[in-house]
Amino acid sequence: MSKTQTTYRKTKSGEWVAYGRYSELMHTEGKEISIHKKDGSTTTRVCRKIGKPFRVDDGAEMVYAYLEGGERIPRWSGPCCDVCGSTRGVHEAFDLSGIGGYACYQCDDGFLSFA
Ligand SMILES: [Zn+2]
Repeated sequence: MSKTQTTYRKTKSGEWVAYGRYSELMHTEGKEISIHKKDGSTTTRVCRKIGKPFRVDDGAEMVYAYLEGGERIPRWSGPCCDVCGSTRGVHEAFDLSGIGGYACYQCDDGFLSFA
């Protein structure tokens, strides 16, 4: 039987995780794990948390390993509202102390001024 490699998987929420055998990943929390990339190279990432193991069709127990710094990468690469995180109608704004930031039109309630 060939060894199942740990590979990247994208979860429904858009987070990149490592996917591999539970028996290999179960004790890797806080440790580095090797992940095989599609191009054949291997990368090392720190495992933040091990998910719940689940069985796949061939009976193997598989698991997702959540990665340090692997939180969801938003498709939107522009500014987000500092208040609510919205990406709609975001503009640069300064608060009363003159600290620059971003606000959406909903959160810019007059205390913030347009840049
Ligand atoms: Zn907002």
